[in-house]
Amino acid sequence: MEAETQAALIAALRLQLDWGADESLAELPLDRTGTALPASSPAAGPVAVPHPPALPGVAPPSRLPRAPAARAPTPAATRAAELAAGATTLAGLRDAMAGFDGSPLRETATNLVFADGVPDSGLMLIGEAPGGDEDRLGRPFVGVSGQLLDRMLASIGLSRERNFYITNILPFRPPGNRTPTDAEIALFLPFILRHIELARPRRLVLLGGVSAKALFRSREGITRLRGRWHQVMISPDHLLPALATLHPAYLLRTPSAKRDAWADLLLLRRTIDEQNPQ
Ligand code: URA
Repeated sequence: MEAETQAALIAALRLQLDWGADESLAELPLDRTGTALPASSPAAGPVAVPHPPALPGVAPPSRLPRAPAARAPTPAATRAAELAAGATTLAGLRDAMAGFDGSPLRETATNLVFADGVPDSGLMLIGEAPGGDEDRLGRPFVGVSGQLLDRMLASIGLSRERNFYITNILPFRPPGNRTPTDAEIALFLPFILRHIELARPRRLVLLGGVSAKALFRSREGITRLRGRWHQVMISPDHLLPALATLHPAYLLRTPSAKRDAWADLLLLRRTIDEQNPQ
């Protein structure tokens, strides 16, 4: 092989790794979206880039988010909605999610990461997606960022053994810990909404931009969403207060942001104390 071709191939592989494609599942790439043009098509360029479904804009609490316009749900999305709706207990939901084969993330993950903590504590924390440690152990927030989160919550008197329940928007680790795509978030949304319905918390804390944007159906960044309570619509007759805050992994990279996270925690503590006086 010519040195130039080999260098180009290595550069292409590096790019894939940088983008989080760290597992090879098949000899040839699969078009899971059905949008790639046949190679013989005159319009086919070198790369067919599918449009990810957009997350709908911020929903006022009086209505459910609109589905992305003019796109019929995929069979996987229909199946996810059916499985989620059919679950009547948390254990049933866990089984349904473990059996859901509509996402390639399941093939690359080691474990389903369902939840941890006390389901009927009244407080539910929702992060982004499992990382490597969580994937290995099958429990959310057990790596370094989870340990920081536990310490932060302990400083306002909350522990996952007694006071809160914790899960993620995605139950499977994205390869290479990349950020979940809009399509992945939309696919798993029925499961997290059902998860919230079954756990029946009185309030939510959304950890980081992925979680806040997914449940607020917003495109605003976390720095604008954090620090105040919002209403989240879980179903037409189920609204819940939700506080968005910074993700602990971001705090590890940006220690100066801990000041804002601390302000959010104090707001959470104050709200709990006001609404559940001892
Ligand atoms: N980050 C998350 O968002 N969730 C986890 O479970 C771990 C790290």
